[in-house]
Amino acid sequence: MVTAEAPPYTLLVIEDEIEITRAVGAALREQHPAIVEASGGKAGLDAIKSSRPDIIILDLGLPDIDGLEVCRRIRAITDAPIVVLTARHGESDTVALLNAGADDYITKPFSTQELAARVAAQLRRAATPRRAPVSMNADGLSIDLHLRTVKRGPMVIRLTPIEWEILAVLVSDPGRVFTHQQMFTAVWKRAYGDARLYLRVHVTNLRRKIERDPADPHLIITEPGVGYRFIGES
Ligand code: CA
Repeated sequence: MVTAEAPPYTLLVIEDEIEITRAVGAALREQHPAIVEASGGKAGLDAIKSSRPDIIILDLGLPDIDGLEVCRRIRAITDAPIVVLTARHGESDTVALLNAGADDYITKPFSTQELAARVAAQLRRAATPRRAPVSMNADGLSIDLHLRTVKRGPMVIRLTPIEWEILAVLVSDPGRVFTHQQMFTAVWKRAYGDARLYLRVHVTNLRRKIERDPADPHLIITEPGVGYRFIGES
């Protein structure tokens, strides 16, 4: 929930389909009256310069400039969070966008509550300094990034170095979706290898150790075809 004390955020929606723009407006206008609309990539980039939005909602399919290119150009001029609107079958495009600096994505058709929640989460993230939490508690699990310990109650959970690295990457930015490639590069420090396959094995083992029910994970969430995110409070 955004409280009444929250600063007035400016939102920019870059989307050529008027119905989607309307749906985004309907979902967000009550909490964020300042919504700027742009119907293409060029108009969107111009609007960033003129209205300095706090968050950008970017559609992948634009008539003039490729969505990925728009995302890269946005990143070159602002740190504002980018939430991408993507089609159901656009998984590889979504991955490319996240790798190009987008912060989150939502698949069309989306629920208005889901979009509002994603936008609120990104605004919260942007408002807090980008420093990895030192410790966090999530679902009865306590994680200390400095001491490199994970406990459930008094019980110490032993992780392999790779499992620890995977957990540390996810916990460094709770709620953010990390792509397979981003995680692989961060953990294995190299770019080649089947990122998805490597991760699947170790994430399965990690879940077995930290989740209450590894078959129904509540901490490490799978984003199908894209990657993983960690759910927890710092
Ligand atoms: Ca479109």
